[in-house]
Amino acid sequence: MSQQFDLVVIGGGPGGYEAAIRAAQLGFKVACIEKRIHKGKPSLGGTCLNVGCIPSKALLDSSHRYEDTQHGLEDHGIAVDSVSLDLQKLLARKDKVVDQLTGGVAQLLKGNGIEWLQGSGKLLAGKKVEFTPFEGEVQVLEPKYVILASGSVPVNIPVAPVDENFIVDSTGALEFAEVPKRLGVIGAGVIGLELGSVWRRLGSEVVIFEATDSFLPMADKALAKEYQKILTKQGLDIRIGAKVAKAEVQGAEVIVSFNQAGEDKQQAFDKLIVCVGRKPYAEGLLAEDSGIKLTERGFVEVNDQCATSIDGVYAIGDLVRGPMLAHKAMEEGVMAVERIHGHAAQVNYDTIISVIYTHPEAAWVGLNEEEAKAKGHEVKTGQFPFAVNGRALAAGEAAGFVKFVADAKTDRLLGMHVIGPGASDIVHQGMIALEFVSSVEDLQLMTFGHPTYSEVVHEAALAVDGRAIHAIQRKRK
Ligand code: FAD
Ligand code: NAD
Repeated sequence: MSQQFDLVVIGGGPGGYEAAIRAAQLGFKVACIEKRIHKGKPSLGGTCLNVGCIPSKALLDSSHRYEDTQHGLEDHGIAVDSVSLDLQKLLARKDKVVDQLTGGVAQLLKGNGIEWLQGSGKLLAGKKVEFTPFEGEVQVLEPKYVILASGSVPVNIPVAPVDENFIVDSTGALEFAEVPKRLGVIGAGVIGLELGSVWRRLGSEVVIFEATDSFLPMADKALAKEYQKILTKQGLDIRIGAKVAKAEVQGAEVIVSFNQAGEDKQQAFDKLIVCVGRKPYAEGLLAEDSGIKLTERGFVEVNDQCATSIDGVYAIGDLVRGPMLAHKAMEEGVMAVERIHGHAAQVNYDTIISVIYTHPEAAWVGLNEEEAKAKGHEVKTGQFPFAVNGRALAAGEAAGFVKFVADAKTDRLLGMHVIGPGASDIVHQGMIALEFVSSVEDLQLMTFGHPTYSEVVHEAALAVDGRAIHAIQRKRK
């Protein structure tokens, strides 16, 4: 290829495209190689924009409106005689949102002078990159720097082989042509809860099989307990400790054989979603002599700054250790580029937020109570419910709470855990507080607007020292 690039990014997901844009801002000549074809067209934006964060949130939003219109308005004195669902329109809206955003990324790359190379990229020895376009000749590029950002794919389990018809992964679960009457889900993780909620709201009877013996083991115990209670009340049938032995298509249904509490059982479904985690995707990405090392689990080995063992080659996002989250991928992409440019950029992995976008949402940042104790902190906590918050009651969104975890000796804030209205946004208050190494007292001394959901944040901080106002707290300080 005649063009000489300073940086070639392989993968145009949130990690890759943000890295490319930041590099262009810093004056690099950049190419981004992306091989995804989405609905028949080459598409940027990776898993996140095409089949992940964005389409799932579009469905969550539409399905919430559908459910709320049916069941959430009566209390407000609003009677709705009949509500009907046009699933094709609902799915088409989701597709439109995806198109808008993926098209937007293409415009951003173009506007920043970044070359989008449509096809596959492979890292060769000596930091060269082989580019195989959808059409035309293979080319070898010799950039100064390379960023590997090829993302992840769903984990498959042999007991439930995906056929993209009756047994689907998360991508298939965004596209059911009709609402399945009986929907099985394997895995009560983030995808299981989000997409399980979508189809439950649209009318499916949803059963979720979770192999481990606890619900959301990575979450704060108090949050997980409350969350499970709320989701169960909504109608999600979450079977903890249910190990699927076999899922088999028989005629027009899927028969799931599972073991729970020592008992073998079977249940029939119209569709089954398998969402038991994702794994890094490096198929065709690395020549045998590329020099890149993979971990046992297939992640590219990197240091804290996302540098690989090869000088000038970085790897980011789902392809490397850490949570598989779009915002983590984005920040790593920016960090890698800034490192290349000579800045001392760093991602603070301790303040990466987690969100599950159900209704209510669950979100957290920093350490949970159990983690803080395990790290040797003398822990104090404060929890306050939305149930007595004026704004939450006015909105009819009174489920959940905010909980703070702090160090009892230093008063330093260690973590924030939210279940309730707007948790995905509220949790950013905790993220900012953690970034600024706040004490609980810092939050106690601030004035929060009234009436807002955020007042629960203030009250939870006060509750850490037994001095929440809208609760009878006997401990005085
Ligand atoms: P990806 O987004 O996977 O992008 C990698 C891109 O590289 C792909 O488009 C792929 O085609 C391309 N590629 C791979 N190999 C090559 C090659 N050799 N040559 C050229 N191109 C290549 N995260 C959140 O933070 N919030 C959410 O709400 C959220 N919701 C999700 C919902 C679902 C259903 C799913 C599946 C995921 C969700 N995620 C969410 C996770 C999020 O999508 C990922 O963490 C994120 O997309 C990772 O970004 P990435 O850039 O590392 O990789
Ligand atoms: P996950 O890791 O969140 O959950 C998988 C669940 O499946 C776990 O609870 C696990 O114990 C269970 N499991 C594993 N094997 C099983 C088996 N054989 N039978 C029954 N249960 C089994 O994975 P996911 O839900 O597939 O999501 C994949 C990734 O995508 C996650 O890492 C997540 O970070 C990301 N994602 C994020 C969001 C978000 O940020 N809101 C949304 C969707 C996906």
